[in-house]
Amino acid sequence: MNLGNLIRKVNKVGIGLARFSSNFTQVLKMKVKILPALEDNYMYLIIDEATKQCAVVDPVEPDKVEAALSDEGVNLTTVLTTHHHWDHAGGNEQLIKSLGSKEVVGGDTRIGALTRKVTHGDELKIGNLNVKCLFTPCHTAGHICYYVTNPNDSESAVFTGDTLFVAGCGKFFEGTPDQMYKALVEILGTLPPETKVYCGHEYTVNNLKFAESVEPNNKQLISKLELAKTLRQSGKPTIPSTIKEELSFNPFMRVHEQTVQTKMGQTDPIKTMGSLRASKDQFRPN
Ligand SMILES: [Zn+2]
Repeated sequence: MNLGNLIRKVNKVGIGLARFSSNFTQVLKMKVKILPALEDNYMYLIIDEATKQCAVVDPVEPDKVEAALSDEGVNLTTVLTTHHHWDHAGGNEQLIKSLGSKEVVGGDTRIGALTRKVTHGDELKIGNLNVKCLFTPCHTAGHICYYVTNPNDSESAVFTGDTLFVAGCGKFFEGTPDQMYKALVEILGTLPPETKVYCGHEYTVNNLKFAESVEPNNKQLISKLELAKTLRQSGKPTIPSTIKEELSFNPFMRVHEQTVQTKMGQTDPIKTMGSLRASKDQFRPN
């Protein structure tokens, strides 16, 4: 064998090893597939690549979910429902009818096909992935966020339904500013900063326009708004963000900031939360 052949042979082995190791890490990954639904809702597949088991979050359009399951070649074990509103829970029954019985998880007995009512701190598994239920009542009285971690790496994700949106939060239909403060500041705000945030709706651009009216000099906010506009112009989701990002520009997570309190004419974070929600409800972006 001449030197040229030897080098080619060594390179081949090298490439083979690199491929093997990248496949190997791939196998241990958590994969999140974003499935847009209805006008501006998001459903999600959470896939454990190691076992090919998966969960779906808020499967309001079961046909789309079934197509995605076969595209991915994965086995659905669990339905995670954030709350009982029809645009989140309205597909549960049809999905079960079509695929057979699954564990249907949620925090509210108003959720269709519910098999397991969970509360704060309850845990479950999707293959090797760990899911922790976070009780975040306010938008609805039984709202649950799902915090997912992978024991094989440091990646984590939280599925926040209509509690936390990118740069915003859900309306307080069945709760109080105090409850949203607990949810956003004390529960979601204390997750690891790199945790990815997957929320229930594509409201990012309008939320950031409201945030800009509250904090016009917030640089992270301005650059996020530009990015979000560009993504939406090409029809792409603005999801996910991270907890770290939300803490930097989401006014509802920044109720301790002097700038936000002053803008709302308040000195107390919970009163600031209430005032922010009231002004957002009146806000019409141009
Ligand atoms: Zn809702």
